[in-house]
Amino acid sequence: MRICRFDSNRVGIVRNDNVFDVTDIVQRLPDLRWPVPLGDLFIDQLEALRPEMERLADRATPRKLANVKLLSPVANPGKIVGAPINYNDHIAEAMKDQTIAHGRDLKTIGETGMFLKANSSLVGPSEGVAQRFSERRNDHEAELAVIIGKHGTNISRDRALDYVAGYAIGLDMTVRGPEMACFRKSIDSYSVLGPWLVTKDEVPDPGNLNLKLWVNGELRQDSNTRYLVYGVPRLIEFTTSYYSVHPGDVIMTGTPSGVGPVKPGDVMAVEIEKVGRMEVSIRAA
Ligand code: MN
Repeated sequence: MRICRFDSNRVGIVRNDNVFDVTDIVQRLPDLRWPVPLGDLFIDQLEALRPEMERLADRATPRKLANVKLLSPVANPGKIVGAPINYNDHIAEAMKDQTIAHGRDLKTIGETGMFLKANSSLVGPSEGVAQRFSERRNDHEAELAVIIGKHGTNISRDRALDYVAGYAIGLDMTVRGPEMACFRKSIDSYSVLGPWLVTKDEVPDPGNLNLKLWVNGELRQDSNTRYLVYGVPRLIEFTTSYYSVHPGDVIMTGTPSGVGPVKPGDVMAVEIEKVGRMEVSIRAA
């Protein structure tokens, strides 16, 4: 199932090139009062609500995908976790081009650990990236994004996929420079998630997905998740050996080689096999 959020917080099911509005499903979510539990309420209930969402979609009038504004499929992630240097070919290019890591020692992901991006940086594809510090190098990083479906901590890699709700395309936008990753990568709109959430039953093996990114039609990144240093199960194990994850938490799994600068006016297109394709434009903030 492909679940999107669009226009003014509508919820949709995507079938082929159509969106079926199932926003009535929101009425099934608990009416909570402060303090609310950590995590995204809708993602927490997603599995249980699927049959009703299918029924609502069957009765809805289709709208063309091209005519809706796609938002991040997760509205309220508790956190966005990033994986640094998680493709060997990206490590090789960062060793050759010192501007990528800004002269920092490149260690392994196991030594470096994960980083966090502020959840205020999250947007959907229709919102685009509002670039700051355009005089500095601002890069695209196309990544498979994992959306966690239930609470867990100390999750072993053999059980890790049980904790996944689904997948999306992630863009981990980055200003290169000396600041900590969590700061440089947390600018408003520097985390793009879309075009929708694909439930995990449609992605039997997240470790074998082609991933491509174009800028203005020119292919810049072209790889496959089989080249991940830590694949999805191990990333979940590694992350949760330090902290809990909650429904709606997003893990951006890292980017392959081909990262490069973008500037206002550019349009990125990103495609991940079995997940989808999205276009995201860059403008000056
Ligand atoms: Mn990244």
